[in-house]
Amino acid sequence: MSNYKTGIEFAKELDQNDPLASYREQFHIPKDKHGNVLIYLCGNSLGLQPKTTKNYINQELEDWANLGVEGHTEAKNPWLSYHEFLTESMAHVVGAKPIEVVTMNTLTANLHFMMVSFYKPTKSRYKILIEADAFPSDKYAVESQLRHHGFDDKDGLVLWKARKGEELARYEDLEAIMENQGDEIALVMIGGVNYYTGQFFDLKRITKLGHKYGCMVGFDCAHGAGNVELNLHDSGADFAVWCTYKYLNSGPGSLAGAFVHERHAHDKNLNRFTGWWSHNKQTRFKMRDEFDQLSGAEGWQLSNPPILSLAAIRASLDIFNAIGIKKLNDKSRKLTGYFEFLLNELGNDAIRIITPSNPKERGCQLSIQVKNADKALHRKLTEAGVITDWREPDVIRCAPVPLYNSFEDVFRTVEKLKKLL
Ligand SMILES: *Cc1c(COP(=O)(O)O)cnc(C)c1O
Repeated sequence: MSNYKTGIEFAKELDQNDPLASYREQFHIPKDKHGNVLIYLCGNSLGLQPKTTKNYINQELEDWANLGVEGHTEAKNPWLSYHEFLTESMAHVVGAKPIEVVTMNTLTANLHFMMVSFYKPTKSRYKILIEADAFPSDKYAVESQLRHHGFDDKDGLVLWKARKGEELARYEDLEAIMENQGDEIALVMIGGVNYYTGQFFDLKRITKLGHKYGCMVGFDCAHGAGNVELNLHDSGADFAVWCTYKYLNSGPGSLAGAFVHERHAHDKNLNRFTGWWSHNKQTRFKMRDEFDQLSGAEGWQLSNPPILSLAAIRASLDIFNAIGIKKLNDKSRKLTGYFEFLLNELGNDAIRIITPSNPKERGCQLSIQVKNADKALHRKLTEAGVITDWREPDVIRCAPVPLYNSFEDVFRTVEKLKKLL
């Protein structure tokens, strides 16, 4: 990967040789008010809209208009089992078996539902371990679970912190925490790809470590799903959750995903919150039966899901399915490696990439720390037509997404940044 070159010619050459280049055409790329196409590096926050999404949603709107309630069984894609159209491709995207995944609720809600089943505190083992700079919603969720079970949320929360002067968490520090407090920790819950630094954790290693000490292990893969090869099944994790509006391009606030490892698929003794959609599908509509727990991740559903949102997710997953997560990942490494190369070529001491330089320890996002910068830099970058996002105090997060970003996008971004610095 070190044979990158500077200059726009090289960027164009990379685009010409990119087997996935044509997929950019399948997305709506936002424009500024003068009609100029923006450089969109914010797929880590809200992924772009596939041009096919409208058709998928329109199909369901038409069937609803024409069929009313009959659409549950008579729609072209019957709504009763609509979520099943997504199962195979979602399983592929996150590296799971079909029985292990379901699309339902929203992300933080799923995190809570998973904790209902997999956070089983006792008097002596009740703590929850998270990474110190976890996404706020995750931190609030685990704190509230601690309080819900009658524990003090300060005492019960164990933080895996980066060392002073560093941004990335180290595994030896996690091992030390587990050695000291492992038998008091009920649940290890880590962001699979950290939203701030872009660090992609070794899910298998963390799971093994947690299990060695008798803890349950779960991951929030909001920044991992559609971005990296998660291999959730092989990781051995007990559960995982993710959203579909970031790298999975399914629209603002769209439904979320959940993974429950196969080993729990038929366990009817787990604590759960249930609803009619958790009930055995064959007898769900008899309505008067005793509750009969549905097996697999689907058994965690409560309600009949919003079909319009599922349709948008299906449109997006069909694109992922057509390419395959492995091929996407190959381009992603090339694209982000090129971005890193150009940033390093700037030779500017004011900027530092805090994301790991090892391609196996990151996805497409690079988090760039800019010395003495404030939000004005982000604003100027936006005015220059580059959409990124800013995290206080001094970090710009840029995510060149292999589905719709080009090497030229990356080249132009670095040129604009150079001018602004
Ligand atoms: C984006 C994100 C969220 C957002 O949660 P919602 O419930 O979808 O609003 C939560 N956690 C992480 C790690 C995220 O990246």
